[in-house]
Amino acid sequence: MKRPRARAERCALCGRPLKRPGRRVPGVGVLGPECHRKLGAFEHFLERHGALELIGAGLEVHRTTPPKRLEELQALFIRLERAGLRVRREDRGPDRAVFHLAGVASRTRLQKELERLGNPQRERRCA
Ligand SMILES: [Zn+2]
Repeated sequence: MKRPRARAERCALCGRPLKRPGRRVPGVGVLGPECHRKLGAFEHFLERHGALELIGAGLEVHRTTPPKRLEELQALFIRLERAGLRVRREDRGPDRAVFHLAGVASRTRLQKELERLGNPQRERRCA
């Protein structure tokens, strides 16, 4: 996915200084070209979970969201937090909430997760 160019001192993922503008990924930060390429696998992963909006407009849940889907999302958020990302919940009224990625808590863990996602044959599965 093409994303707008933006300037930053360092890549949000590997921490290397950016001499040229990188790409801004909402909820992750500005990434250099290499790290932005690696993010492709992560986008596919979110897409498979129907959660690509986490790095876009936000993922909405509401009163009619089926319990099974809520459970699935809960597991996804736990996995994302283990992968070094922050997930933020924003309440929009009594029965509506929107989830976003809200930055990188651990670059090391996120890099490991991206390596894993980039090598699907090595991805461990529970099911
Ligand atoms: Zn980088």
